Amino acid sequence: MSDAHERFETLAVHAGEPRPAHGGSAVFPIYQGTVYEQTATGGVGYLRYSNTPSQEYLQDKLAALEGAEASIATASGMAAIATALHSVLAAGDHVIVAGSVYGGTHALLADQGPRLGWTADFVDSTDPAAWAAALRPETKAIYTESISNPLVGVGDLAGIARFAAEHGLTSIIDNTFPTPVLFRPHAIGYDLVCHSATKALNGHSDIVAGVVTGTAERIDRVQGFLTLYGGSIDPHAGFLLARGIKTLALRVRQQNANAMALAQFLEGHERVAEVRYPGLASHPDHERAASLFNGFGSMLSFTPVGGLEAAEVLIKGLRLPYAAPSLGGVESLVTRPAISSHAKMSPCDRVLAGIGEDLVRFSSGIEATEDLIDDFSQALDF
Ligand SMILES: *Cc1c(COP(=O)(O)O)cnc(C)c1O
Repeated sequence: MSDAHERFETLAVHAGEPRPAHGGSAVFPIYQGTVYEQTATGGVGYLRYSNTPSQEYLQDKLAALEGAEASIATASGMAAIATALHSVLAAGDHVIVAGSVYGGTHALLADQGPRLGWTADFVDSTDPAAWAAALRPETKAIYTESISNPLVGVGDLAGIARFAAEHGLTSIIDNTFPTPVLFRPHAIGYDLVCHSATKALNGHSDIVAGVVTGTAERIDRVQGFLTLYGGSIDPHAGFLLARGIKTLALRVRQQNANAMALAQFLEGHERVAEVRYPGLASHPDHERAASLFNGFGSMLSFTPVGGLEAAEVLIKGLRLPYAAPSLGGVESLVTRPAISSHAKMSPCDRVLAGIGEDLVRFSSGIEATEDLIDDFSQALDF
């Protein structure tokens, strides 16, 4: 069931579910087996090949969510990103990359890339002149993220997809932050969409998983690398991911409502110097986000008045959010990127990237909006 005419809420529940149901069960079973009887047509079913019933069930669901022909589920978001890149880059190839990408992706391209013979140029994703300047005869791909971390910037995503098509490049996007509830990149021309399903797709902070979506041909290539590098998804993790996805639309909507309300509350608070949320008119990418997305996401960042000390007092004073990295779960999280996601960056590079020691990042959970605002209100009252 991957009918593109069905609405997202319905797809999240029903896509990929066999009808009639297996054994009449409304819940797809966990096929724990690693080996499967060989069929007359010669197919070999094996867990590492990502073609067992539980994996194919999950992959049908994930493809439907992104409106893609096919998907491959992976053991982590990094397994998805790494195999997607391997599927398009060979030794000698070049990739243009949005400068603000996830730390693991940055390290893979900047540190490991040279050993594989890949070269990468990191550019401003809002500046078409920068992409054009980076283009070389050996450029094969352009890689970006839908929403950047932690400043929640939104690049010229439609422009990047067009640029890729014009120059025969494969366009790859990490759509972890908005989720397909808010944004479906294939619809504006992206070739490969990656996710850390660890985050909002699963939504309960209890597995590590990933996915790549695209045409069957492209996903076959990704699957080839995944099989050799050994990054297939475990059936138990896959079961939890499929279960989490069924409530994705509801969760994302509540997270968005919480993030929007909190961003507005913080923007009006005398102890807050600056708030970054794409839903606020004050965000430099607000209009682009409004035109691309069906909502502004669960992530915001802000700086309290009073610098690092104030940021630390505030984080300690909050009672509801866990002081932890990661995002997209049902529970709210708060962290300082300078000591978590961006700890490996040099202080100087962090300042250049606009990520001060005092920047606080918030990942909204699905708690009651009023309770989160009350909590921030008491924590800012120091
Ligand atoms: C967490 C994250 C990843 C990495 O995912 P893992 O599941 O931890 O491997 C990649 N991209 C983004 C945007 C992330 O937030």
